[in-house]
Order: sequence, then C-alpha cells, then structure tokens
Amino acid sequence: MQLTALKTGEKAMLSHDILDNFSEGFCRWTPDWRLLKANAAFFRLTGLKAESPFSEIPDADKRSFTFYELGSAVARQTENLDSVDNFELRLARETGGHCWLNINARRVPDANGQTSYYEAYIRDTTDLKLREAELSHRTFYDHLTGLANRDLFVDRIQMALQTSKRRKEIRYAVLSFDLRHFKTINQHYGRSFGNMLLRHTAATIRSCCREADTVARTASDEFGVLLQGLEDGAQIVKIIKRVHAKLNASFSAWEQNINSVTVDVGVIFPITDYNKPESVLRDADIAVERAKGTRNQLRCKFFSRRRLEEARKHLSLSAVLQEKRNVEDFYLDYQPIVRPLDGEVHSFETLVRWKHGDAIVPPSVFIPIAEETGFIDRLGDFVIEESCRQMHCWQEKYDANVRLHVNISPHQLVIPTFPEKVLAMLYRTGVDASRLLFEVTESAFLRDFERVLYNINAVRKHGIQFCLDDFGTGYSSLSYLRHLPIECLKIDRSFVNDLERDEKSRILLRHILSIGTDMGYSIVVEGVERQTQINLLGDLSRLLIQGYYFYRPLSAVSAAALLELRKEQ
Ligand code: C2E
Ligand code: MG
Ligand code: MG
Repeated sequence: MQLTALKTGEKAMLSHDILDNFSEGFCRWTPDWRLLKANAAFFRLTGLKAESPFSEIPDADKRSFTFYELGSAVARQTENLDSVDNFELRLARETGGHCWLNINARRVPDANGQTSYYEAYIRDTTDLKLREAELSHRTFYDHLTGLANRDLFVDRIQMALQTSKRRKEIRYAVLSFDLRHFKTINQHYGRSFGNMLLRHTAATIRSCCREADTVARTASDEFGVLLQGLEDGAQIVKIIKRVHAKLNASFSAWEQNINSVTVDVGVIFPITDYNKPESVLRDADIAVERAKGTRNQLRCKFFSRRRLEEARKHLSLSAVLQEKRNVEDFYLDYQPIVRPLDGEVHSFETLVRWKHGDAIVPPSVFIPIAEETGFIDRLGDFVIEESCRQMHCWQEKYDANVRLHVNISPHQLVIPTFPEKVLAMLYRTGVDASRLLFEVTESAFLRDFERVLYNINAVRKHGIQFCLDDFGTGYSSLSYLRHLPIECLKIDRSFVNDLERDEKSRILLRHILSIGTDMGYSIVVEGVERQTQINLLGDLSRLLIQGYYFYRPLSAVSAAALLELRKEQ
C-alpha cells in the first residue's frame, strides 16, 4: 500500500529514528487517521509502505486494514482509561491467515481534553500464540484421532452441567461408545491396524454428530460424545443408528474378516441430575457395561440417576432383608372389596407393609427383593398366619360375614411343605378356612407346574379358595384358565386405567367379564378410582370392585371400625 500526500512540515525521516532499531512496532496517529510517527517494525507489522513515514492517509481505501483495526481497537480501549497495557488483538492478515498483537497504548488529550493523538507499542505474538495453541492442542486433544481427550471432555461436561442448571430448556446427553472386541482385534491384526480402526471409528462417530457436539476419545477403545440442544431421546437413537449403519457399511467392505466390529453404547440423558462430570462418566461406563449384556439392535442402554438410586436402594434393602431374621417391623393393611350396587363390604385384601426406619417401603419394592433373598418364605408365613388370626378375631367379634384375600408369592407355592404349614396355621388360629382366598399370579404356574398344582389342590381340600390376581398382565391364555384350580378372577387395574380413553380396552374387558362369569368365577375388578370407570363396567350385579373409589387400604383398626358399623346396621 502506498502512502501519499505528505503533510507539509512533517519530517519524512523515520529510518534514522532510534525507534527503528526496536523490534517492537511503534506508532502515533491522530483521531482522523493521520500517522504522525511510526517505526520500521510498525510498517512491517501493518504492511503499510513506508516511503514517507510521516504521512497522512487520505482515504479509507488506502488505509492498511491492520492499521485501521489496530487504531479502532486502541480508540475503544482508551476511551475511558487513557492508557492500557498488554491488550491482545487477533487480526486477519491482509496476506491471509491471522496474527496476534500485544499492545500497550495511550490516548493523549489536548488542553480541552479532546484526543490529540494516540500512541501504541505493538508486539507481534503470533509465534508465541501458535506455540501455545500447539501445546494446548497436545494437552487437550488425542494425537491419534485428533478428537478431544478425556480432560477436555470432562471440562466440556462441566460447562454443560453449569449451563443446564441455569437454563433448564437446554438438554444435554452424554454417550459412551465402546469398541467391541478391540483388544482381540489389536492382538490379531496388529497395532497399526488397531490404530487405523480407532481413527476410522473416531471419524465415523464425529461425522454422525453436529459441529457443536463434543466428540472425545476417553480411553484406549472408548469414545465419548456430549450432545447438546436435545428435545428427546429419539434424536439420540437416530445418532446411534447412524453410527451403527456407517460402521457396518465400512467394515463389511473391508478385506479382513472383521465385519463383527461394532460399538456398545451407554447413554446418560438428561445429565441435569448430576453435579460432577466424573459421576456422569462413571454412570456412562456402567451403562456401557449393561449395554454389552443387551441383545437389542442398538446395543445401547439408557441410564438415569434415578435408576442408579433405585439400584442402590435395591442393594441396600436386599442387604437388610438378607440379614433379617424376624418380621417385627412388618404389618398388614386391609383394603375392602365391595359390591358396587349397594356399596357393601364383601371382603378384604391383606396388603403387607414394611416400616423400615422412618419410611414405609411399598410392597412392589420389597416383595421382589424378599423373593430374591429367600426372606419371602418367612414373610409369607407371617402374612398368612396374621391374616388367619385377624380373620378369626373378626369372625368372633363381629360375626363378620366377610372373606379375606391373601397374596401368596409363587416362591411360597413351590415349597414342598406349603400345605402342611398352612394347615398348621388354620389349626393354630382357629379360622374358618372358607373365609380365606389365596391370591396367586399367573407367573406362579410357570414355575414347577406340577408342584404348584399339587400344593394348591392340597390347600383347597381344606376349604381355602384361590383367586388369579392381576389377570390380563401375564400370558393370560384363556384356554389355560380351564386347567387352573381357581374360583375367582381379579382383573388387573391396567384394564380399568385405559377404560375411558381406549375402545379396545372396553371391548376386551367386556368379553373377559362375560367369559369369566360364564365360567363360574367370581370376578373382582381392581384399581377402580372414578365413577366414570364404574359406568363403563356394564352389568355390575355380577362384579366386585376394589379400588380407591370406594376405599384405600385401611389399618386393622379402621377395618374393624367398618365391620363394627356394619354389625350395628
Ligand atoms: P396386588 O395384589 O394386585 O394388590 C393391589 C394393589 O393395588 C395394592 O398395592 C393396592 O393398594 C393397589 N390398589 C388398590 N386399589 C387401587 C386403586 O384404585 N388405584 C391404584 N392406583 N392402586 C390401587 P400395594 O399395597 O402397593 O401392593 C402392591 C403389590 O404387592 C400387590 O399387588 C401384591 O402383588 C404385592 N403384595 C402386597 N402384599 C403382599 C403380600 O402379603 N404377599 C405377597 N406375596 N405380595 C404382596
Ligand atoms: Mg393381590
Ligand atoms: Mg392385583
């Protein structure tokens, strides 16, 4: 660029200036872009041609872009401060690429406080910056794949966690990809091949994500992805599908017989529940391990903090139940089963409760654990005996014409001594066996069918009836029903739940009720909560109803009060 139009009286002899020996650039200029003084280094830096260094730059076209940017930045920086030290400026070079400048500058005012001129000392720090960038690249990027390394990944998750706490609408997911059988492949085909495989997998995953997502190599054969701005899990599934498809396509085209190369995927979504990136990565690892055990096509497992908490709780409860020798903190509630036409209590179902510390643990949580740990044996005995005792007591006290439904676990039904134990309890408590109905689920018949059948029949001989609980949730083969020694069907509450909005549920329920009654079973519809559901049940004269609409499960004292009331009427 040529600088023309010298201002008269200004000396055009900067080359002799001592400043010319400085490697640092120096310049002084007026707010209207008149260059008053500058040294050789400045001209090198800005690309201005310095035939006549004290020059006025007549119009914008002739101004060096670098000078213009620099001058504007100095004007901004010194607007309030008058002088600034070490501010950094990244500029596009006119010849292409970028340069970094480190600048000390000041604004010199005139007697009226108006800017007389600006002065700046400028250092070109581009080389330094490039070295720093290279160093930081080596610190934060994986040299084999060029992806972010684990440290940078952790950093990005940390930022995502902070953002998602402030702005709930931005949802993030962390995916962990594990290259299946990588170690074997490495041993078999050699390290170079292994490295190529890793680079290829890295590039494939990268190509399936968006620019804004972070893709990292988190361990030797593991990759992490931080996805942002997600609406739902479907977007994650799409990305995973894409990765599988691309990997499949590329490996099946290779010569080596390695088309079994694939990745297992663990997903944490959303990550909002977490406080530390390490916890996110730990759970992502757990999710990947679980994904390895799955057979689904996506080879993927979603994991949530809530599930982990549940799993932990499960473990600690199971440790407690494993140690448990007595049933002192268990008790029974009683939920009335009513005749819908007159609201009369027809029977009760006993529901076991566990008071564990200050909490009441629901049976849906502890029964499966009790079954796993074998504690169900002891607990089941308690439930039957306590039910017998209570029923006998109500019989005596209120002459109560009610029956008691008692839940029996499939695990109890395969115990060879089950019938004898029940018989002993009947005897000990003096209860009339015909007042009892044992509820079993279909899964009971899937175990040792012969044994279960034998035990049920042995108990029935003494007058206890059987009821098929949660009917409609298991395999529910209607023809199978013919072979089961039961007197009662309890329709699962999922049918009732869907009654109002699902025509098919209504049709199905109507037919089940009709078949059930025609086959001579008494029928209890479970989980009725609203009048609108009752309205859709059809002929109520043949049904019994259990549900919050009539009663929630009651304590033994409240159930007794109900019976007392009935007796008085
Ligand atoms: P279940 O035998 O099907 O018992 C009915 C469950 O439905 C009870 O839950 C009851 O409180 C609930 N329920 C009743 N009416 C309604 C309603 O209108 N709406 C809703 N949302 N729920 C209703 P609970 O007490 O939590 O028991 C859950 C399950 O635990 C029982 O299902 C049963 O499978 C098992 N269980 C309970 N007590 C025992 C027991 O003594 N022994 C065994 N082996 N299992 C038991
Ligand atoms: Mg039940
Ligand atoms: Mg049920």
